[in-house]
Amino acid sequence: MKVLVYSAKDFEIPYIEEANKRKHKIDFTKDALSSETAMKAIGYEAISIFSADEACFITIEKLKDFGVKYITLRSVGYDNINLRAASRLGIRVANVPAYSPYAIAEHSVALLLALNRKLIESNFRVNHYNFNLNNLVGFDLNDKTVGIVGTGKIGAIMCKIMHGFGCKLLGYDIEENNTLKEYYNITYTSLKALCKQADIISLHVPLNTETHQLINEDLISFMKDGVILINTARGSVVNTEDVIQGLKNGKIGALGMDVYENEKGVFFKDRSQNLPNDDLLLKLNAMPNVLITGHHAFLTEEALTNIAETTIYNLDCWNLRKETENELTEINQEP
Ligand code: NAD
Repeated sequence: MKVLVYSAKDFEIPYIEEANKRKHKIDFTKDALSSETAMKAIGYEAISIFSADEACFITIEKLKDFGVKYITLRSVGYDNINLRAASRLGIRVANVPAYSPYAIAEHSVALLLALNRKLIESNFRVNHYNFNLNNLVGFDLNDKTVGIVGTGKIGAIMCKIMHGFGCKLLGYDIEENNTLKEYYNITYTSLKALCKQADIISLHVPLNTETHQLINEDLISFMKDGVILINTARGSVVNTEDVIQGLKNGKIGALGMDVYENEKGVFFKDRSQNLPNDDLLLKLNAMPNVLITGHHAFLTEEALTNIAETTIYNLDCWNLRKETENELTEINQEP
């Protein structure tokens, strides 16, 4: 199958080539998919996209006109693709449903530890031979209450890790996971109650109409003073302006974020010589109690291997005119 990989990053190409073993004719472009770059897909039966690509209705229509039949996402989240349009136009879409929940959960914990123990500031001082410890006080995680919003694959690993730290776990999800109750003693509760009791809140829900700006001024007002908020899910799960306000008035003690609502066109790029014209990002970057990483929670060898292998597997299935169990579209369903 002839495949065009959009938003191809240097670090992932070797993993994709290794998984492919020359079965498919794969070309790579650094460009993100958009209605303007859809033309690049002319002559390809399949394309592969990542989280910064935008497959809206117009783009999908163009891809259909250009003869694209398959789209395989190299991500878990699929909030950036109009699945209804793809289904209606007969384009099959599949994702990588689980490439390594450990990668994301461990990154969430890395953000938490770095913020709580003020590692960035501490390292900065030591680099300048300043060994003063003032204002570097953190707290023990042992016995603290962690609120896990979304206890799916990543949230479940977060439960396992935080349970290992001796934390009490509160969960919020539309579906309760009995295994987590049994193994890690998680208590499911309402989001409001979770916010009232948690010392740390970690977000692991997908972005959808219900979770869009789920963390807003109203919920923040219920949070404990000084709560640590970690977001490795999707930027728009929080209202960024409300979170900044919470940081300013001390309600939120620290924020760790790997995702940002306006990250498209900024993250994954070197913008050091062309600073983003984005006041929210500038404000967040200027705060000492905010730690931002550029959507790199997934960046482990294991995750990249699994992403590449599942992407090739999806293509293999379609090449054999079979369905893949990772399919997100229901082609035969009436719109
Ligand atoms: P998952 O589908 O296994 O789990 C999501 C959980 O959220 C499920 O338990 C589901 O019931 C729950 N949920 C869905 N809608 C909800 C709602 N309205 N209210 C409460 N709970 C709700 O997904 P996952 O593999 O754990 O991934 C979670 C998210 O993490 C992805 O959707 C993606 O956006 C994000 N992610 C980020 C990165 C990164 O690099 N930062 C990498 C992978 C995934």
